[in-house]
Amino acid sequence: MTDTASALARLTDRLGPAAVLTGAEAMAPYAFDWRGIEESHPLAVLRPAATEQVATCVALCADAGLAVIPQGGNTGLVGGTVARRERPAVLLNLGRMDRIRDVDALDFTLVAEAGCTLAAVQTAAEAADRLFPLSLGSEGTCTLGGVLSTNAGGILTVRYGNARDLVLGLEVVLPDGRVWNGLRRLRKDNTGYDLKHLFLGAEGTLGIVTAASVKLFPRPRQVETAFAAVPDPDAAIDLLARLRAAAGEAVTAFELMPRFAIDGAAAFLDRRFDPLAAPAPWYVLLELGGGMPGRALREAAEEALAEAAVAGTVLDATFAETGERRRQLWAIREGLPEIGRKLGGVVHHDVSVPVSRIPALIARGTAALEALIPGVRPYPFGHAGDGNIHFNVGRPETMPGKDFLARATEVTALVHGIVRELGGSFSAEHGIGGRKAAELAATKDPVELDLMRRIKRTLDPDDLLNPGKVLPP
Ligand code: FAD
Repeated sequence: MTDTASALARLTDRLGPAAVLTGAEAMAPYAFDWRGIEESHPLAVLRPAATEQVATCVALCADAGLAVIPQGGNTGLVGGTVARRERPAVLLNLGRMDRIRDVDALDFTLVAEAGCTLAAVQTAAEAADRLFPLSLGSEGTCTLGGVLSTNAGGILTVRYGNARDLVLGLEVVLPDGRVWNGLRRLRKDNTGYDLKHLFLGAEGTLGIVTAASVKLFPRPRQVETAFAAVPDPDAAIDLLARLRAAAGEAVTAFELMPRFAIDGAAAFLDRRFDPLAAPAPWYVLLELGGGMPGRALREAAEEALAEAAVAGTVLDATFAETGERRRQLWAIREGLPEIGRKLGGVVHHDVSVPVSRIPALIARGTAALEALIPGVRPYPFGHAGDGNIHFNVGRPETMPGKDFLARATEVTALVHGIVRELGGSFSAEHGIGGRKAAELAATKDPVELDLMRRIKRTLDPDDLLNPGKVLPP
C-alpha cells in the first residue's frame, strides 16, 4: 500500500467511512472553484465531526506528506480551496462541525463551531435578541470558519468592522496536530501577544479554525433604509459625511452603484424596477440602525438628505416604508453580481482606497480603461462607506468574451496600478488565495513579506496547510 492509501485507510478507520470521501463523484460537491476558473484535484475529502478528529486528520496527513486544505462553504472567490496538481492534497471540509456551543445574552457573546453557516450564527444570535453583525451575499452557504479565515467584510463593515473586529477567541488545530484552546470571551485581555489575529485572515495557511467566540451587539430597534440618486461619486462621499455628522455611528450600510444596476437588471435579468422618478447616473443605498425606537434616526437621515439636496449632491431620494420595499431596494444592489455573470466576460477587482479617494479611483480607472479598450463597460460598485469598491469591468458589446478575457492581465494591471497610486489595497475583502499570491509577493513591503514568511515557516515548517495560498511557493 502507498503512504497515501495507508493514510486514507487509517483515517477511515479512525473517522468512519462517511468522513473520508474518494472518487470523482463523491468529491464533486467539494472539489470545485466557485468562480469556475481553476480545476481542483484533491486525493480525498475529509469530513471530521469534532476538533479531535481534525487533529487526527492533520497528524495522519503530515505523516503521509499530504497537504491539507481547510474548506468551509467553498464560496471564496480567489481559489483558496483549490487543490492543485503540483502537491498531493486532501480537502478538509468542516461542514459537519456545525454546533452552536453557547449563546450568552448577558455577556453579548456566542461560541460556535467553524462549520456553522454565517446565517445559522445570525439566527442563533437573533433567537437571544442579539445581533451578529456580519452580513454577506453568501451568508446562507459560507461558514464561520471561512469568514474568519478570509477576514470577510460585507455590507455592515462601515459600522461594525470586518470579521476580525468581531472575534474574542479561537480554537485552532495547529499544523503539528496540537489544539490551541483560545476560546476566551473577554473584551479586555492584555496578557501578551494576541495570537488569534495570526489565524484571522490567514486563509487556512497557519492553522485550522475549529471554533470561535464572537461578539454580539444589541439588535437595532429601528432601521431606516433609503435609496438616493446622486450626480457623481464625489456627491456620494459628500452625502456620507453629512449622514455621519447627523447620525454618527448609526450609519450601518452605504453602498454605491452606477445606473447600470437598474438598466442592467432590466436588460439582463428582466427586472424592471426604478424606485425614483428620473434616471440618475449614480445611486446610494444607505441604511441607519439604532437602539431605540422613535423618529430620531429618520429625522437625522432626512435632515442630511435635505441639506445635500440643497447643496446639489442629492438629486432625489426615497425611504423604504415597508419590509417589502426594503427588500426590493436591496435586490437592486444584490443583482449586480448576477448581471455581471450575464455579461459573458467580466474582469473582477475587489479593491479598497481611503473613502475620500473613491471618486478619483472611479474617474481615473474608467478613463484609463476606456483608453485601453474602447467600448469597455466598467461598473464599479460596492461598500463605499468603508472604501471597498468592486471595480468590475465588462467586455465591450462587440468583443467576444474570450478575446476580452485574454486581456484580463492588462486590465487588472491598470486598475491595480491606480489603486496602488491612491494608497489602496488590491484585495479588500476576498483575500489572496492562490490566484493573487504572486501579486502579493511582488507588491508587499519587503520587510512585511519577510515577516509573513517567517511566521509561516515557524508555525508550519513543512508547508502542510494550504500550500501556495497567500504566499507563493
Ligand atoms: P471557503 O471558500 O470554504 O474558504 C475560504 C478560505 O478560507 C480558504 O482559503 C480556506 O482554506 C479557508 N478556510 C475555510 N474554512 C477554514 C477554517 N475553518 N479554518 C482555516 N481556514 C479555513 N466576501 C466578503 O468579504 N464580503 C462580501 O460581501 C462577500 N460577498 C460574497 C457574495 C457571494 C455571492 C459569494 C459567492 C462570495 C462572497 N464573498 C464575500 C466571498 C467570501 O470570501 C466568502 O463568501 C466567505 O468569506 C468564505 O467562506 P466559506 O466558508 O465559503 O470559505
